[in-house]
Amino acid sequence: MCMSLMELRYVFEDSYENFKVKNVAVGKDFLIMAGPCSVENREQLFDTAKIVISNGANIIRGGAFKPRTSPYSFQGLGEEALKLLKEVGDMYNIPIVSEIVDVRDIDLMSKYVDILQVGARNMQNFSLLKELGKIDKPILLKNGISSTLEEWLGSAEYILSGGNSKVILCERGIRTTETSTRNTLDLSIVCSIKRISKLPIIVDVSHGTGNRELSMDMSSVSVLTGADGLMFEVHNNPSLAWSDGNQSLNEYEFSEAMVNVRKVRDFYVKEYRGI
Ligand code: PEP
Ligand code: MN
Repeated sequence: MCMSLMELRYVFEDSYENFKVKNVAVGKDFLIMAGPCSVENREQLFDTAKIVISNGANIIRGGAFKPRTSPYSFQGLGEEALKLLKEVGDMYNIPIVSEIVDVRDIDLMSKYVDILQVGARNMQNFSLLKELGKIDKPILLKNGISSTLEEWLGSAEYILSGGNSKVILCERGIRTTETSTRNTLDLSIVCSIKRISKLPIIVDVSHGTGNRELSMDMSSVSVLTGADGLMFEVHNNPSLAWSDGNQSLNEYEFSEAMVNVRKVRDFYVKEYRGI
């Protein structure tokens, strides 16, 4: 283990208890976080929620504050989206995850969502991480666009050492020299982390590939890493999506992906694990 990893303590603790978010036991139940990239309106969110829940999702995702490359792209509906997310979460009694992009939004977001997501672009926003260490809400911490394992775990350590032990890691792909995909999904880092840390870790197959077909293929593949769950972008009508339509699955695609995920997960649990 390299020197700076040796400095970290909390990420290597053995004692992480499973924790519950509504009825979902993180670290025990296989997490399927699914929903639109961005919340666009009530009909889009509620239709998409129905699709993902009826196909096995146990957590709804939806962006309210969007970190966009261009300042002219859709930036998210903000609080209006958070209200819709809370409503759909209450209706189905299902946890909601949404991204926080600004430390000033912690109180606002905590009112409406169950899990706060730190996206790739904010993985090393240390002042944000320190504040998230002080709250009692699970944090979904994605890896940075070109972060190393050490940097990613260092960021998790900021939250854990502040007193918040509810961290879920999420591999969302990294930037490499490959140009045929939006990102390179780094599944080996999931296995590396599983070998050294008990923190739950999931795989975002949508941002990890940037491509609808590949996200379906990689979802079942990812299960064999021992990941604790998956994230998918799903839209009731991907061709009309305001963001990330190319990587969003429609109802039939998500349903097909989930049939395969269930088969592989079943195999993993019953026959593969421990061999
Ligand atoms: C997202 O999940 O909506 C998102 C913007 O993800 P990332 O930070 O991985 O790009
Ligand atoms: Mn997206």
